[in-house]
Amino acid sequence: MRTLGLLGGMAWPSTLAAYRAINEGVAARLGGTHSAPLLIWSADFAEVVGLQTAGAWEEAGALLADAARRLEVAGAEGLLLCTNTMHRVAGAIETAVTVPLLHIADATAAAVRADGLTRVGLLGTRLTMEGGFYRERLADHGLEALVPAAADRDVVDRVIYQELVQGRTSERSRQEYLRIIAGLLDRGAQGVIAGCTEIELLVTADDLAVAYYPTTRLHAEAAVAWILEDHPVAQRDR
Ligand code: GLU
Repeated sequence: MRTLGLLGGMAWPSTLAAYRAINEGVAARLGGTHSAPLLIWSADFAEVVGLQTAGAWEEAGALLADAARRLEVAGAEGLLLCTNTMHRVAGAIETAVTVPLLHIADATAAAVRADGLTRVGLLGTRLTMEGGFYRERLADHGLEALVPAAADRDVVDRVIYQELVQGRTSERSRQEYLRIIAGLLDRGAQGVIAGCTEIELLVTADDLAVAYYPTTRLHAEAAVAWILEDHPVAQRDR
């Protein structure tokens, strides 16, 4: 198996979910006592939020590039950046290391395309919904992303930073998200991307009647496939 390095802690609740999903995915494929060979670097998320708020993207890129280098030196053969928002500095990370970065939007877009959809609602942080970096990456895969109107983007962003990244969920926020998703569907979205890694801790596929693309789960599935790529398929322990 290949060793994967996780750039995590952005925030910790979704890194925890990714860690679990990747291990469960490897165990499901290989059976027995198998688990995923992983290295984890976990941020103090307050530092990252501070850089986001200041618009200090060069510093943010340098912080994550340094972490990526450490993971590579420690033996990571590939990297997973466990947040959508910080893919804004994916380029800085990629230039700092020689190993591949498995991009979260690529994993997500592949799942959407596999279902034959072309227009999807996108929920995420304000930076993800409003910045070009994420929607353009989806557009590279032929996908059009619809985002909520400004007032609802505020709601989605506030719930992420004031609740979800701090490990809290509430029924009130879940209902707000469902209302906002219904608005995106009315505008023609054929499915919805949970484009913040914590959103799937609040809204699950069971809450929706349309296709749902939870980025932590999809990224974890891509990670499992990558970890196992050089592993003999036939080899499965009891
Ligand atoms: N985990 C969230 C995301 O996927 C937000 C945290 C962050 O700002 O990195 O975008």
